[in-house]
Amino acid sequence: MTYDGVVIGGGVMGSAIALRLAQAGQRVLVLEKAIPGAEASSAAGGILGPQMEGEHDDPLFRLALASRDAYADFAAELRELSGVDVGWRRCGLLRTSAAGEDAGPLEARLAWQRQAGLPIDALSGDEARRLEPSLSPAIERALFFPDEAMVEPRKLAEALPLAAQAAGATFRRAQVRRIITEGNRAAGVELDGDRVAAGAVIVAAGAWTSKVEGCGIPVDAVRPVRGQMASLRGAGPALSRVVFTSRGYLVPRADGTVVTGSTMEEAGFEKRVTAGGLARILGNATATLPALAHAEVTATWSGLRPCPKDGLPLIGAGPLPGLFLASGHHRNGILLTPETARLLAKAFVDGRDPAELAPFSPLRFAR
Ligand SMILES: Cc1cc2nc3c(=O)[nH]c(=O)nc-3n(C[C@H](O)[C@H](O)[C@H](O)COP(=O)(O)OP(=O)(O)OC[C@H]3O[C@@H](n4cnc5c(N)ncnc54)[C@H](O)[C@@H]3O)c2cc1C
Repeated sequence: MTYDGVVIGGGVMGSAIALRLAQAGQRVLVLEKAIPGAEASSAAGGILGPQMEGEHDDPLFRLALASRDAYADFAAELRELSGVDVGWRRCGLLRTSAAGEDAGPLEARLAWQRQAGLPIDALSGDEARRLEPSLSPAIERALFFPDEAMVEPRKLAEALPLAAQAAGATFRRAQVRRIITEGNRAAGVELDGDRVAAGAVIVAAGAWTSKVEGCGIPVDAVRPVRGQMASLRGAGPALSRVVFTSRGYLVPRADGTVVTGSTMEEAGFEKRVTAGGLARILGNATATLPALAHAEVTATWSGLRPCPKDGLPLIGAGPLPGLFLASGHHRNGILLTPETARLLAKAFVDGRDPAELAPFSPLRFAR
């Protein structure tokens, strides 16, 4: 069988793109070297926090905001198609600042986001503790973002391949060795001892994107940045909102556990949980919520973020006809999934990138 599109990588990006392409009537195959969703996509905190992450009002901020605001419908659609509740909640997010910390970054964010008309509140430490009573008394001020949200990444990573298959996409376990070209056009992929012909190829291989031979971008365009995480259970009153500090974050899960992270490490493709990494994230967690000192550590893990060289994701047509990329979403790939999938599928079907994708065109690396 010849496919209209072959997607390399079954993380949230590849699976969501396959879902949108299948819904658009395309015959699509996802090739995943391991288990769909088991890499960065399952390692994530699941914070949908564009206002927390955004330094300026720019195209990436607007893409992230649109993606956050698409999540309510996206989660409902995934539940309908896959039967999996991805745990989306508009829970709000607190960015706290403790005694002795520079309040400048919070003030700058408050100023530009107020000017842009975005919902944001400045709170005293006591006001923050009225929202989250277990916050440390050392917290002196906070920003509150009422529209920020969260999702459970492992459930999202489970739901997306099921939804894509329900819509008609096929998934196969295989490692892609290289992209095949015919007459200067992407025409399929080579696997170990096999070939798959396709009208087009979409590279959504996360931190491994630059390693896919023939993907058309330099090896340093997307690199892995390791993040370590821990899950904690059973310590005092439950947390209701995402809490961010200058050193990390805490995310409440529906089962009462708190997920905390994370590090940003240049460690190549080595996924490892280290003593130093854990000391940092647990130190931040217990300084922020002192009751967590008595919590049980139920799991630790790490994942590789696909970090783009210039800070912007790569979404859209690649340097060859029939070649597309959706990668480099770094710290915000869960957040950016709905809009990336929608826009990439539009680029694929229309044969040209929509205007919103111009700042993220992979061609900036190919030139
Ligand atoms: C610790 C941590 C915390 C994070 N927290 C958040 C958060 O709170 N909010 C947020 O929005 N984002 C967060 N992120 C970022 C987010 O997880 C990623 O940006 C997103 O998951 C990237 O999705 P992806 O599909 O591109 O990559 P991945 O999930 O890594 O998927 C890529 C897939 O491609 C496969 N693959 C690679 N090469 C090949 C090949 N040659 N052949 C076949 N298959 C191949 C891999 O096996 C993998 O499954 C976090 C990431 C980490 C690591």
